[in-house]
Amino acid sequence: NSSKKIGVIGSGLIGRSYTMLFISAGYRVTLYDILPEQTQSAKKDIWEQLGALEREGLLRGTLTRQQQFDLISTTQNLEECVKDAFFVQECVPENLEIKRSVWFKVDKLVDNNVILSSSTSALLPSVISEGLEYKNRFIVSHPTNPPFYAPATEVVPASWTDADVKEKTIALLKEVGQVPVVLNKEIKGFVLNRIQYSILGECYRLIRDGVVSPEDVDTIMSQGLGVRYAFMGPWETAYLNANGMLHYGELYSDMILGIQQDLGPPERMEGPTLEAVNEAMRKLAGPEETIPARRQWRDRRLTALAKLKKEM
Ligand code: NAD
Repeated sequence: NSSKKIGVIGSGLIGRSYTMLFISAGYRVTLYDILPEQTQSAKKDIWEQLGALEREGLLRGTLTRQQQFDLISTTQNLEECVKDAFFVQECVPENLEIKRSVWFKVDKLVDNNVILSSSTSALLPSVISEGLEYKNRFIVSHPTNPPFYAPATEVVPASWTDADVKEKTIALLKEVGQVPVVLNKEIKGFVLNRIQYSILGECYRLIRDGVVSPEDVDTIMSQGLGVRYAFMGPWETAYLNANGMLHYGELYSDMILGIQQDLGPPERMEGPTLEAVNEAMRKLAGPEETIPARRQWRDRRLTALAKLKKEM
């Protein structure tokens, strides 16, 4: 793959992760950012992260840390980033104006063979790519953070995206070790965040109504639902909880409907309820200034889980 080039635009958290994924399969990556110091710190960070993965036996692909790292070049010139690239992954901030301004520039620098892929978490592909000459080459590849340990990636085409763009994006993501999930049509929040925000909405109401403490809501997930969800989704969970799905429906559909009808309407998270959750989290996870250390704690656990899942 070393003759094949990918352009990565934006070298923050997600640009770094995508770069690491692509080099693991031997692709050359040219990394661009409007801030030159960002690409420099990205290279340093990637070198360290590759080292940590190597130590844990989690380095992807067959190349060594040094061989992978040598595939990265950086630039302050957008044209150099996308020139001759067969795939462009955009990882700039989640802001429609910034994304559209970047893509309109890229649009002038590419041809109809390229794939134009955005990391957006919530902007619709049709909204970002409307008006681009090569909007038929545009697609969203939304990773889960951190991508190395949570490989599911939502692939979201617009109605005008060419079929081969979808197929080739899926193939590339699989090749670099990700687990792509294709949405048949674009929808606000895609799938991951629709599920995530449904959970947050109900957790919020449970706190507001004084049913349980914020810590206990988290315990229900971390010691209950989440334990299974590390290995299977809600459908397989249900399937195994009865003698198949139809049996599950016979047993529980009425009860589930009754509970779902009892859930409240959407509500903005704010005010005393949000403050109470924050206080509880400060006790549980540590005050705000210790969040970076707690993230490292989380990432060590995610690493251990990734190793376990790899062995199974
Ligand atoms: P980030 O802030 O860490 O990085 C953004 C980078 O883009 C910065 O280095 C910034 O200097 C650069 N940038 C800003 N304007 C630019 C421009 N015009 N041209 C080139 N580079 C520019 O952000 P991130 O967390 O990496 O998020 C990037 C995208 O990925 C967003 O759309 C976000 O929604 C999405 N995403 C983030 C996560 C997450 O958990 N952080 C998960 C999935 C998807």
